[in-house]
Amino acid sequence: MLYLVPTPIGNLEDMTLRALRVLKEVDRILAEDTRVTRRLLQHYSITTPLSSFHAHNEHKITGGIVEELKNGASIALVSDAGTPGISDPGFLLVRACVTEGVEVTCLPGATAFVPALAASGLPCDRFHFEGFLPHKKGRQTRLEYLAALPHTFVLYESPNRLLKCLDQLATFCSAGRMACVARELTKIHEEIRTDTLENLKLHFESKNVKGEIVVMVSGA
Ligand code: SAM
Repeated sequence: MLYLVPTPIGNLEDMTLRALRVLKEVDRILAEDTRVTRRLLQHYSITTPLSSFHAHNEHKITGGIVEELKNGASIALVSDAGTPGISDPGFLLVRACVTEGVEVTCLPGATAFVPALAASGLPCDRFHFEGFLPHKKGRQTRLEYLAALPHTFVLYESPNRLLKCLDQLATFCSAGRMACVARELTKIHEEIRTDTLENLKLHFESKNVKGEIVVMVSGA
């Protein structure tokens, strides 16, 4: 069995009891960055062996992991924060397991876009998850596509790109469109600000923006 185990996006209390038990019980844990996961495991006194599974080695080692699982191993996959596979490594391994008939389960748990969307005050009965926009090639095409969507869309963004992102969203979607910036969720400086794209831009222009960010924009 392959377990996808969500880990906290900031607040260490956001580990479920089941996630802790699974991480204790599996034969080994595959981690995006073993240093990050080691700190989490130390916090919870978990001593399960750790190895690396990240964007640079997943193609190479996926086949071997699937064989190990077929031979009866139980393995957990974690990323640095949130749910594996959501803008993080995981898809290739899960697809290989599904194709090869290896059982996969994903524990429910921390992920950034769900609390961001639920607390935004923007319509969340239907939504589109976009994740990170391409930095250069294809960016304009994605922005045009997103601007025309009839429901809320969700982006992941880095702090140093937030202003450019809000500026482009205001251009493509119109400055008066309602949007939300959710920053540092579950952490001490959590900020969830819902306003027009123009006002959000004005607000964050006057600040040295730090931390991790989810941007949401209401539908056309
Ligand atoms: N797997 C993660 C998940 O389930 O949400 C996402 C990983 S992705 C590499 C990291 C991005 O998620 C950040 O750049 C940011 O956009 C968003 N993110 C992660 N933690 C966050 C937090 N505490 N507050 C706001 N956004 C966060």
